[in-house]
Amino acid sequence: MGAGLEDLFGQEHPGEPDESAGEFRRALVVAAHPDDADFGAAGVSALLARAGWHVRYLVVTDGSKGSEDPAFTPERLIATREQEQRDAAKLLGVADVRYLHFTDGELLPGRELLGALVREIREFRPYAVYTHDPEPVIINNSFVNHSDHRATGLATVDAVYPAARDRLNFPEHIEAGLQPHKVRELYLWGANVPNFDVDITDLLELKIQALLAHPSQFPTDDAFIQRMRTFWRDPDGRSLERFRRVVMFI
Ligand SMILES: [Zn+2]
Repeated sequence: MGAGLEDLFGQEHPGEPDESAGEFRRALVVAAHPDDADFGAAGVSALLARAGWHVRYLVVTDGSKGSEDPAFTPERLIATREQEQRDAAKLLGVADVRYLHFTDGELLPGRELLGALVREIREFRPYAVYTHDPEPVIINNSFVNHSDHRATGLATVDAVYPAARDRLNFPEHIEAGLQPHKVRELYLWGANVPNFDVDITDLLELKIQALLAHPSQFPTDDAFIQRMRTFWRDPDGRSLERFRRVVMFI
């Protein structure tokens, strides 16, 4: 048993699973590309891991489009980025990383993606799911939300409710021995209207280290590090990961 969440997060903290009701200290972080989970939720993942939670990253696409370097074939890029994500996860205490291997840049929130996410949720049985907010096409009037991010967020929200919950959705999972599962809390990063802040001031350097574990994606120079040191800073000097939190009603 790890520390209580209130010790690590402060007053506003994620909900605690009720272990007597069969709920587990498990968080599933669903990301479109290898590096998105670190960008969106490295700090909260590290905090949950320190509190004794099993944190799992689930990467939906293979990352095969994410390089302008002609030296990368798609195959080499896929392998490189999978290893980068494993390295970053290890720094944070994220217990494992799984990959669904959909093609980067071509993701659609259809039946195949939904079924794959429902299966992962029914297998892992997380208390909380973290993912991209699917709603914004433009985030903070400043950048376009990648279509894979929107597709991942939308399919994950739909998988959480109602698809994973109801046994008549994807009954082949139930026939294969899995059970329906109720996720209790949903946290969406990249939200235009966040309602839940996680203070990651003490974890900022660790989060930056996790980003630097993706050298195929980010420059590892001082300018990048300085930019990252201010990117999550709020006006009072704290660094925050900001989410839209939804406590599931049923
Ligand atoms: Zn991405």
